[in-house]
This record gives sequence, structure tokens and C-alpha cells, in this order.
Amino acid sequence: MGTAHQSRTTINFVGDALPTCTMQCPICNSQFEPSETTAMPFCSNRCRQIDMGRWLEEGYSLPHVPDPEDDEVPDDDTLLN
Ligand SMILES: [Zn+2]
Repeated sequence: MGTAHQSRTTINFVGDALPTCTMQCPICNSQFEPSETTAMPFCSNRCRQIDMGRWLEEGYSLPHVPDPEDDEVPDDDTLLN
């Protein structure tokens, strides 16, 4: 005997390749790959600057709303002397 039965297994590296998940830039609506930019979630630093500018404009236009004092500050009554 000694019949070495070697079954040649064909391995498909389908799962190895990462799917190219493209994102859509919310500023210029262009498709881009997240790995190609460091200005996530925007396609470029330029678009990030634009978004930041818009955000700041909205922030400055809005009146400052003070946070309601809920249960963050404890009452003095709870302090037992
Ligand atoms: Zn963009």
C-alpha cells in the first residue's frame, strides 16, 4: 500500500480581499474610499474645513442655551452635620 492520496484543495481567496467600501462625502457628495483620506468622514481636508465652517456659523448664530441644573448639584440639605 502506501498510496498517498493527496487531494489538491483549491482555496479561493475571496474572503481575503476586503470589499471596497466607499463613502459619500456629505459636503461634495463624491464617492471616496475611507482609506485614502485622513479627513474622515469627509473626502478631503477641504471638505472638512467647509463643514467645520458651516458648523461654527450655526453655532454662533444660535443663542447660548444654559444647561438646566438638574441633579448635578446636590442640595445642601443632603449634607448632614
Ligand atoms: Zn468632499
